[in-house]
Amino acid sequence: MAADPSGCFHSQIIEYAPVWVNTLDPEGRVTLWNRAAERISGYSREEVVGHASIWEWLFPDSDYRAAVFAEGQAIIHEGREIAGLESIIRTRSGEQRTLSWYAQRFFDAEGTLLGASVMGEDITERKQLELRAQHQYRLQEVVSAISAQFADLSADAVDAAVVQALQRLGEFFRMGRAYVICFRPDHETMDLVSEWCAPGVAPFLDEMQGIPMEAHGWVTRQIRQGHPVHVPDVGALPEAAVVEQAEFRRQDIESLLLIPLISDQKAFGLLGLDSVARHYEWSPEQIAVLQVVADIIAGTFARKEVEAELARQARVDGLTGLANRREFDAVLERECGSRREVNLALLMIDIDHFKPYNDRFGHQRGDDCLRQVAEVLRAAAHRPTDLVARYGGEEFACILPDTTLEGARAVAERVRRKVESLQLGHPDNVKDAVTVSIGVSAVDGGRSVAPEDLLGEADRQLYRAKREGRNRVCAAGL
Ligand code: GH3
Ligand code: MG
Ligand code: MG
Repeated sequence: MAADPSGCFHSQIIEYAPVWVNTLDPEGRVTLWNRAAERISGYSREEVVGHASIWEWLFPDSDYRAAVFAEGQAIIHEGREIAGLESIIRTRSGEQRTLSWYAQRFFDAEGTLLGASVMGEDITERKQLELRAQHQYRLQEVVSAISAQFADLSADAVDAAVVQALQRLGEFFRMGRAYVICFRPDHETMDLVSEWCAPGVAPFLDEMQGIPMEAHGWVTRQIRQGHPVHVPDVGALPEAAVVEQAEFRRQDIESLLLIPLISDQKAFGLLGLDSVARHYEWSPEQIAVLQVVADIIAGTFARKEVEAELARQARVDGLTGLANRREFDAVLERECGSRREVNLALLMIDIDHFKPYNDRFGHQRGDDCLRQVAEVLRAAAHRPTDLVARYGGEEFACILPDTTLEGARAVAERVRRKVESLQLGHPDNVKDAVTVSIGVSAVDGGRSVAPEDLLGEADRQLYRAKREGRNRVCAAGL
């Protein structure tokens, strides 16, 4: 038998097999240790053969080792066979590797138990790839959920949806914070507009307002160029990022990722993820998927802005920028509402002899004149609750809440004098300049009033002012 060349042949195969092969005697001592076992474990056969120390070296945790050792005993003494059992070993260099084991006991020709033969396949890399693929798959599921949530979102639901998306991302990556920062239109400063924080992590929403962008130029320049900023290690930031580094450290950030929010090919903000008190490194695949989320958020913000602009335009007069008739009606209705407690006054303003002005100078100059009168009104009724509107053609109206008849008369008189002093040449008017007539009405607080009553009285006073010679204020309470 000893001369049988096939014995030599078999041991050659075992020696050079690309998988880990070893044998153990019934006491668990190593009897054979092939090259792959040496390479994977880092331990040479001289170190391991003839004793059982390898168990401690490969499995330093005693509980884990006891479980693996029991498995080995069951193979040798009970005849259990294992196939594809996974365990984690610690190599000589201290690295952890995952192996998939195949083992069974074996006997000699006389039937004497020799021990166990063990084969191990190193699946560390495959395992990591699998985990990474799984993680990426779950990230894509999170992003699908976010994207579904943003479809057909009404403008007033956007803010809540953004916070929820931030929470989903934050929890997925086990971040401390997830947030959105928007640049102000002048690109001088930026604001934290939305933030999610993990339990126990300090929020910065109140504090991070009006942050100067130039001072954080290392970050903001990259974002404005449309590039994500990936910082796996805040400690390794370049010299150019000292301001950012100090800021990140103050917030206890170890790693972070900032992704530009882009609309119309311009970055207007960023989506940020902060890894607080632990390191995290994002893969290029993850960053690509996060860019999709950033694009969803950016698109929603842009749409919301367009909707807000349309809503604003629906309330504003195009020529003067004042409130339009529709807005005026709505506000007057509201101010006359049943729970009114304060005084309420109304001004109706009409430009005197405006038709001949238009006829003489043309519509363009007429429009200029309307704009200038509008400015006078805007300046005169300056309380935040005042509303100045273009009522129609060359007529304006002001709603003055919490104002008495006398107070409103004073405002009207100021307007009248100011328009006269503009000295806008008007040869067909008594003063050779543009003037206005104003009718004023008011009602005391606590009394109920219908909008048409207040309007009717202001209108009557306006026509009295016209009848009595124009360029004057007439007023009456209800
Ligand atoms: P009165 O002193 O009685 O108010 O005389 P008036 O000529 O101002 O009165 P009327 O209401 O008859 O004329 C309003 C004129 O205002 C008609 C039109 O020529 C002018 N007008 C109305 N809307 C506009 C506008 O949007 N732009 C311009 N340029 N003119 C307008
Ligand atoms: Mg008129
Ligand atoms: Mg007029």
